[in-house]
Amino acid sequence: MLLGAHISISDGIDKAPERGRKLTCDCMQIFSKNQMQWKARLLGLNEAEDFKTKSREFKIAETVIHDSYLINLGSPDKALLQQSREAFLEEMVRAKHLGVRYLIFHPGAHMGAGEQAGLKKVAESMNWARKEFGSGDVELILETTAGQGTYLGHSFEQLARIIGYLEDQKNVGVCFDTCHVYAAGYDIKTKKGYEATLELFDETLGMRYLKAIHLNDSKGKQGSRLDRHEQIGKGFIGMEGFKNFMSDERLERIPMVLETPAGDKKYKQELKALRSLIRG
Ligand SMILES: [Zn+2]
Ligand SMILES: [Zn+2]
Repeated sequence: MLLGAHISISDGIDKAPERGRKLTCDCMQIFSKNQMQWKARLLGLNEAEDFKTKSREFKIAETVIHDSYLINLGSPDKALLQQSREAFLEEMVRAKHLGVRYLIFHPGAHMGAGEQAGLKKVAESMNWARKEFGSGDVELILETTAGQGTYLGHSFEQLARIIGYLEDQKNVGVCFDTCHVYAAGYDIKTKKGYEATLELFDETLGMRYLKAIHLNDSKGKQGSRLDRHEQIGKGFIGMEGFKNFMSDERLERIPMVLETPAGDKKYKQELKALRSLIRG
């Protein structure tokens, strides 16, 4: 299994691989800039090259980027939508410079415009960004959401509809966040529920679209629609639920990262606990 965590870039992007390795990460997720600001400082050429060199040196097999939380590709507000699209395109360019294949993002929120309009808007935004950027190099990875408020992407069916509207259905995929999927109502805790949920994913989207996994326990119950991550094993999903993922051979090559609340303080311990479940 390719296990890792969301690693801070506070000391510089090129310091992240060593930081990840110290926490026993085989793969990792990063923000490519301060995620709470629209503007990003330009990446230095050396910074990107150092990041790639250090990733090899510290044996980080794969890094994925999570986009800024400010971006809403489904916004009905024209100005906000344009600002989001431009920032998103910038995220794609940064991913390319860093040699990162997957850009993970939340589809967006319709803000009252309705589900159908929102899903279409997200796809239009992705089509726009793809055209501006050109094909290949960076794949756009839609993250499953918990479905709080007017957030889109809380059902596999909604994600399939977005993909259905895309002009390029190749360079696209899905990131399965365990906390979000569970809070959105799917059972992944029981063995039977897990199998049924993955089967549904396969029927609705296709397993080939599963490109990344966020491993988070959930503070909210199944169907609570609460996006509140918990330490692995301390929430409602529990070790029982994570055992399903760790013993699933289909997931062997998929990057799986923690986004749990204690961060660096507990990552090592949580990764150890997860690894103990592999073929256990
Ligand atoms: Zn996310
Ligand atoms: Zn996530």
